[in-house]
Amino acid sequence: MAEPLCVGLDVGGTTMKAGVVDDAGQLLSHVNVPTEAAKGQAHGLATMAETIRQAVAAANLPLDRIAAIGVATPGSMDLATGVILDPPNLKPWRNVPVRQYIADTFQLPTAFQNDANAAAFGESWVGVGKDHRSLVLFTLGTGIGGGIVLDGRILEGAHSHGGELGHMKVDITGGRQCRCGQRGCVEAYASATAVVARTYEALQQDGGQSQLHSAGELTAQTVFAAADAGDALAKSIVDRTAFYLAVGVANVIHTIDPELICFGGGMIAAGEPFLNLVRRYVRDVAFAWPAERVIIRYAALGNDAGMIGAAGCAKLLLNTGK
Ligand SMILES: [Zn+2]
Repeated sequence: MAEPLCVGLDVGGTTMKAGVVDDAGQLLSHVNVPTEAAKGQAHGLATMAETIRQAVAAANLPLDRIAAIGVATPGSMDLATGVILDPPNLKPWRNVPVRQYIADTFQLPTAFQNDANAAAFGESWVGVGKDHRSLVLFTLGTGIGGGIVLDGRILEGAHSHGGELGHMKVDITGGRQCRCGQRGCVEAYASATAVVARTYEALQQDGGQSQLHSAGELTAQTVFAAADAGDALAKSIVDRTAFYLAVGVANVIHTIDPELICFGGGMIAAGEPFLNLVRRYVRDVAFAWPAERVIIRYAALGNDAGMIGAAGCAKLLLNTGK
């Protein structure tokens, strides 16, 4: 009997990615299709199905070779019913029955998961965490996503909101405004967006010495590059970014004490010096015994993590029924 193949679909705010993934977690195909969320959820669901079909066609396979499908989407969501609630990245979608639609359309077992959870699962299955029993992933991009995998299972939580690591509070006295409406979340300090916002604020207070005054429109990458080149203002921004991230990491260590904590998303371009700063601050603020032992690294699968992880969730559903 041929090995079971699964399709992983990762629905993002701008693009949907799908691929056929084999039993060992290797991608056999890979397609990208614009999400066009503004065209509404009926269009979105049809695009999901079309993207899955394209991924299967791109692998030169008939649809009946696919054993299960895994779909990852941004939150908020109800995992138990397979419904996206009101995701800020997919406006104006509301209460979209994703799992039912895909399962009905393809008549296949369909897993449904939060995108950051799926990415953590992908990293745990075949990425940086494949030799570890527990993994925590922070995705550092426009926001900060999070996922926790313990003994091969995603920590979903009782209400589908486990692992929302970007919204751990790291400053509760007049903290920075977060996109979630609350204040003081780690995302409001250490996402790529927050790095840029904090840099612009610092430049207004700066006497004009920083090279970033003439750097044009800033990105997190230009700030990290300026820090590497010795710019004092950029260095202090990067230093505080590492510190706030380390406070979040310490909270995770004190909650679940994982073997491995990894960072994915666009900010991993910051490289090893940034990771070393985070490691140093973690040792400063967390219990010494776990802080000296926890492994802190960058993730390995890049943008494919969510798609591979979604397929991994489909495989898990096939093997265990949940
Ligand atoms: Zn928040």
